[in-house]
Amino acid sequence: LSTELRSALVRAVGEEHVLVDPSLTGSYETDWTGRFSGRACCVVRPASTDQVSQLLRACADKHVPVVVQGGNTGLVGGGVPVGGEVVLSLTRLADLEDVDQASGQVTAGAGVRLSALQAQARAAGLDFGVDLAARDSATVGGLLATNAGGIRVLRFGSMREQVLGAEVVLADGTVLTRLSGLPKDNTGYDLVTLLAGSEGTLGVITRVRLKLVPQLPARAVALVAVENTASALSLLARLRTTVATLSAAELIFASGVALVRESAGLAAPFQEEYPAYLLVECADRADPTDALVEALGDCPEVLDATIAGDAAGARALWRYRETHTEAINASGVPIKLDVAVPVARLPEFIDRLPAAIGPAVTDVPDARTIVFGHLNEGNIHVNVLGVIGTSGGEDRAEAVEDAVLRLVGEFGGTISSEHGVGRAKTRWLGLSRTPAEIAAMTAIKRALDPEGQLNPGVLLSR
Ligand SMILES: Cc1cc2nc3c(=O)[nH]c(=O)nc-3n(C[C@H](O)[C@H](O)[C@H](O)COP(=O)(O)OP(=O)(O)OC[C@H]3O[C@@H](n4cnc5c(N)ncnc54)[C@H](O)[C@@H]3O)c2cc1C
Repeated sequence: LSTELRSALVRAVGEEHVLVDPSLTGSYETDWTGRFSGRACCVVRPASTDQVSQLLRACADKHVPVVVQGGNTGLVGGGVPVGGEVVLSLTRLADLEDVDQASGQVTAGAGVRLSALQAQARAAGLDFGVDLAARDSATVGGLLATNAGGIRVLRFGSMREQVLGAEVVLADGTVLTRLSGLPKDNTGYDLVTLLAGSEGTLGVITRVRLKLVPQLPARAVALVAVENTASALSLLARLRTTVATLSAAELIFASGVALVRESAGLAAPFQEEYPAYLLVECADRADPTDALVEALGDCPEVLDATIAGDAAGARALWRYRETHTEAINASGVPIKLDVAVPVARLPEFIDRLPAAIGPAVTDVPDARTIVFGHLNEGNIHVNVLGVIGTSGGEDRAEAVEDAVLRLVGEFGGTISSEHGVGRAKTRWLGLSRTPAEIAAMTAIKRALDPEGQLNPGVLLSR
């Protein structure tokens, strides 16, 4: 870090928010999975949009690239440095305004944690439409930058569907503010939704105007044992037509349940072990339990089911699904793939996974694959454990990624359903986007960040 740049950064945020000591920067330099890490020249922690603007101007002047970071729960290496960048941590941008009851909207600083946003919305009798297991750390800015999905997409859509306005600072320090939250506003290009999925490559999000959804406090959750993915899918298709309050449908398998039981010490959900399970949730203002019980009673796909109509029981059932990511990480550094295929083809895709992965891990006796995901969107998380960390592990990991992502391409799917492309999937972007689309994205990037200052190497290769 040059003395000149350091002085400019200190002028913007104060000495105590320019971190250079490795004991302080360490947690910003490695991602949540432990797979991606690099040394930053420093970590800066602004507390206002104006400070972000000053910092970006200083970095642009000195041609030092910037890596943008929120809660650092991203799973594709997009928010951690490769080497020598300034890490811009947004967690101090944590202002959360009162809910605007007239519009059912709220404005949140980019560093507001998802759980804090949810609490604020619920205190006002509303709720936020996106929910995911990293809720205590993931930030509003990170959620928008990755267009996060999560467990309620079936009911409310992804982050892109929740956003009505944003404030963003461009690489040269220019501030664009569009926070009035007009649900109908056709005055040209929508720069706000362009930020959804931009992964920090177009600008630094500092504030977001969000739409809230009705609070549906009465919940019924069922863990349903089924034979395979095809039966889970036909069960979901049936429930879509019989229960209007369906809000989540999560697919897990025996191998994942065994792992989370071992890791989190959970009891067996049923006396017998079944090959696959569908976790469904219904949410409404009035108790949806009877409707769910009745609907499941008519479904031949159900091998066994346990239903919770109270909050503690519902939480206990959700743990079989929600502890998957943590349990996988606790077992070692995973090869992580987050893909989607057209939902009708998901059973065939899952059946073909072992043959695709197998050749790359034949000589790795401990390799095991854990698959789970959001069934309604055909979105499956494929995690291969026991490979990274062995000799030649990184090469094998690439071979696994390549095989799975090519299979996804063959099925007309996407190589990143919700985690983003990050640094991890850049080289496979062409499997999901045409050369013309990539050229258009590159043109947008060049227009807003001509020097390639922000998150170089993320999403688009340099
Ligand atoms: C246990 C667990 C469960 C998860 N479950 C889900 C899930 O169900 N669905 C899902 O979609 N994701 C999930 N994730 C992934 C992750 O939580 C999301 O991608 C989340 O949106 C990242 O938010 P963050 O604040 O941690 O961002 P970070 O990890 O800090 O950054 C992620 C990306 O966004 C960019 N970014 C961050 N803040 C800003 C900003 N203010 N302006 C511009 N760019 C920014 C970064 O540069 C980076 O490219 C999960 C992660 C974990 C650990």
